[in-house]
Amino acid sequence: MNPRAIGFAAFALFMAVLPLLPVPNFWITQLNYIGLYALVALGLVLLTGIGGLTSFGQAAFAGVGAYASAWLCTTQGASPWLGLALGLLLTALLALALGWLTLRMSGHYLPLATIAWSLALFFTMGNLDALGKYDGILEVPSVSLLGFSFRAERHMYWLIWLAALAGALAVVHLLDSRPGRVMRALNASRGGGVTMPEAMGASTFAYKVRMFVIAALLASVSGWLFAHMQRSVNPSPFGIQFGIEYLFMAVLGGIGSVWGAFTGAALVKVTEDQLQVLLPRLIGSAGSYEVIVFGIVLVMVLKFSPDGIWPMLERWLPRRRRPAVPADTPPLPARDKPQRGQPLLEAKAMRKTFGGLVAVNDISFGVTAGDIVALIGPNGAGKSTTFNLVSGVLPLSGGEVWLRGQRIDGLPAREVARRGISRTFQHVKLVPDMTVLENVAIGTYLRTRSGSLAAMLRLDRAEERRALHEAERQLARIGLAQQKDELAGNLALGPQRLVEIARALASDPALLLLDEPAAGLRHKEKQALAAVLRQLKAEGLSLLLVEHDMDFVMNLADRVVVMEFGTWLVEGTPAEVQASAAVRAAYLGTEH
Ligand code: ADP
Ligand code: MG
Repeated sequence: MNPRAIGFAAFALFMAVLPLLPVPNFWITQLNYIGLYALVALGLVLLTGIGGLTSFGQAAFAGVGAYASAWLCTTQGASPWLGLALGLLLTALLALALGWLTLRMSGHYLPLATIAWSLALFFTMGNLDALGKYDGILEVPSVSLLGFSFRAERHMYWLIWLAALAGALAVVHLLDSRPGRVMRALNASRGGGVTMPEAMGASTFAYKVRMFVIAALLASVSGWLFAHMQRSVNPSPFGIQFGIEYLFMAVLGGIGSVWGAFTGAALVKVTEDQLQVLLPRLIGSAGSYEVIVFGIVLVMVLKFSPDGIWPMLERWLPRRRRPAVPADTPPLPARDKPQRGQPLLEAKAMRKTFGGLVAVNDISFGVTAGDIVALIGPNGAGKSTTFNLVSGVLPLSGGEVWLRGQRIDGLPAREVARRGISRTFQHVKLVPDMTVLENVAIGTYLRTRSGSLAAMLRLDRAEERRALHEAERQLARIGLAQQKDELAGNLALGPQRLVEIARALASDPALLLLDEPAAGLRHKEKQALAAVLRQLKAEGLSLLLVEHDMDFVMNLADRVVVMEFGTWLVEGTPAEVQASAAVRAAYLGTEH
């Protein structure tokens, strides 16, 4: 069994029996709050730590969960379980609307929108007669299940920690899955972004919305538990300052890891209480001085351990080991591919301008199924831009692109990927803190289906094994099987390029676009790569590659297209191109 899983089981067992031991009520209450805070902070780990999206509005989502249930139970006499359902429904709708409006826009809109929404909700709760204005709602009933009432703090404790640990497990499972790999690829501050996952077929917008909704739902459950623990609600714990405090907990504990949420919640709750007693005594007057201390602590943590406290503790724990994928795992379904010799790709007068610069000037060329076509030209000739136009990463300024008789220009990159084009990037786009195997597995995105809910419930394991098996197979093919459990960020640039090729191959494309695949490789590695590419061609795959190394291209390509300053110069067989005086002048001349 995985040592991590044993650790988790031991922790859960310990937490389960704790209230049966003679633990003072004070500590049970503390633990209740820690569990409630951790649930909210857990959402922030997913949203902010993993996804790179900041929200100050998580306390407000907790408010929705708390108020919805308190209102329903007190005015309609409904069961708190019905209140939970209403709270989750309202939260999901609000988060969807808010996410839909803001997540398409760049960086700062989401945090601003969550602040605005926090303030709006706070004043709504405080001013509505039906919600008791600033006095809130009193006499909220306690939760009961099968005749057992969770009335005492010790009983609420079980409900809270069941929710907190189930939430943690769900997020851990989610992150280790098909949707989770996309989510982990999004955070720009960790070397991610949207271009790569889109090129692998994922709608990054849809994933951002999902993460936002999941985080909001976690907060909402926390609010519901809080309302039925306190047996009353009022607006103050759901205001913007609590929204900030949750973010503080997550950052302090370690916003990149699930257990960071728990570490942060525990540290903040325990020290807050101590400081609230201690500081006024030291200073001699009452006041929320602990806020100042927290501010200082946060700055110190960000300076000396920017990843928070948990990663420092985690170093003492056994590393997570991925169980080997059984060799008899069935392969993923193959994707449809054209017959050798059929027209595959056709670029017609493709044009791209950046302001006044014509980066690609009416370029036309074609790729026949089963061929290797090379695009060469000096630096800045427009080769990478041509790739971006073909793969849908950039919109065309003019011209057309056809794939197997269908027009594909104007389609988003993920749709182009769905139709069978896969690519690598000149500036390598791997997720540095994911393993090599996980990075390659992103390539299987379009050949697999498991969604977020299936992942959280661990119903995706059979398909996941097939995806990882495929990733292993592609890594073995390019000679990197040994490095599969290495973090991608630790590899040298040459091997990183190979990992990108394996990732592209894992999507089983009809056409593979490679942007300078041999750059940074040593001579032996280049020869090995050329052998792999020839093998791919022999298997019927078509390749379009950009390359600098003339020898590499000349011994590999069926046809060569030469570009210079964005314009088409010559096209022909390697021998014809080598013989061309224009190419010698333009390309070889600038090589020196
Ligand atoms: P190559 O891959 O052949 O070296 P590129 O396609 O990267 O060339 O670039 C072609 C030209 O377009 C260069 O002059 C480059 O500076 C310019 N260019 C590329 N991308 C952009 C962009 N996003 N904005 C503005 N100019 C760009
Ligand atoms: Mg380039």
